[in-house]
Amino acid sequence: MNSENSTDLYRLFASHICESKFTVVLTGAGISTESGIPDFRSPNGVWATNRQVYFDEFLSDPEARYEYWRQKSVSHREFADSIPNVGHRTIVKWQKQGLVERVITQNIDGLHQQAGSEDVIEIHGTARRVACLSCGWNEDAEVMVQRFLANDACPKCDECGGITKHATISFGQQLNETVMQDTIDTLRKAELVIALGTSLVVEPAASIPWINNSARRKVAIVNREETGKDHLADIVINGELGVTLTEIDKHVEHAMMAD
Ligand code: NAD
Repeated sequence: MNSENSTDLYRLFASHICESKFTVVLTGAGISTESGIPDFRSPNGVWATNRQVYFDEFLSDPEARYEYWRQKSVSHREFADSIPNVGHRTIVKWQKQGLVERVITQNIDGLHQQAGSEDVIEIHGTARRVACLSCGWNEDAEVMVQRFLANDACPKCDECGGITKHATISFGQQLNETVMQDTIDTLRKAELVIALGTSLVVEPAASIPWINNSARRKVAIVNREETGKDHLADIVINGELGVTLTEIDKHVEHAMMAD
């Protein structure tokens, strides 16, 4: 992409944002890499260094459960010590300007909320809390991770002694129905869906931009590399999110001043 082409793309992207009456942003792990949290599929991503613990293993096998908690105690530090980056902050700015209605995220790091986004739909839950799988009791993840590290054993529920797990959706675990319904209802109104930092290969999240699709709907993608759904999008920019969103925002500002 030469600079002339990229300027045209930024301008077009900005015009879609300014023209849409209801814009939804969908984010994936790529929006948080600039905050120091690795994604799944990049060479230094989570899968390069960890084995996946599936939900049924977690339930049935104490060793898998321990491995899960070991991994989570490491990733917890990355989450807890990280702060939102320019990508998260640009979305908040657009929300305050009335340009973005709602954020749907696959991320579990809580950085959108920390940046100031309200009412975020977390389709894969949150790693900021730990919950009991039996009674629903829940506690701050920091407290539970410290307990795991202090005792070198999976922490049990304070209320009923049940198995505890981060309040996230693990591999092989059902998505939360209420959260998915909220997602579907939100997309009913969407004229523009902006997918940021997601490989768009993990279903059903990968199909979210096209749920309740309408003739008016435009889909815009920013990602470092090609995604599984580029062929379905109206506009695709391959680039780093921080610089790309900053450039798009300059064109948004310009378009708003011209109005
Ligand atoms: P993914 O790892 O499949 O894809 C992330 C995409 O972002 C990749 O295509 C990568 O090229 C791109 N990317 C990375 N850094 C970027 C940057 N700075 N600018 C532009 N693009 C960048 O992530 P996903 O599609 O969100 O996938 C699946 C799962 O990963 C989700 O379930 C999510 O919960 C989980 N996950 C979340 C976190 C987090 O909460 N921060 C971290 C790792 C994994």
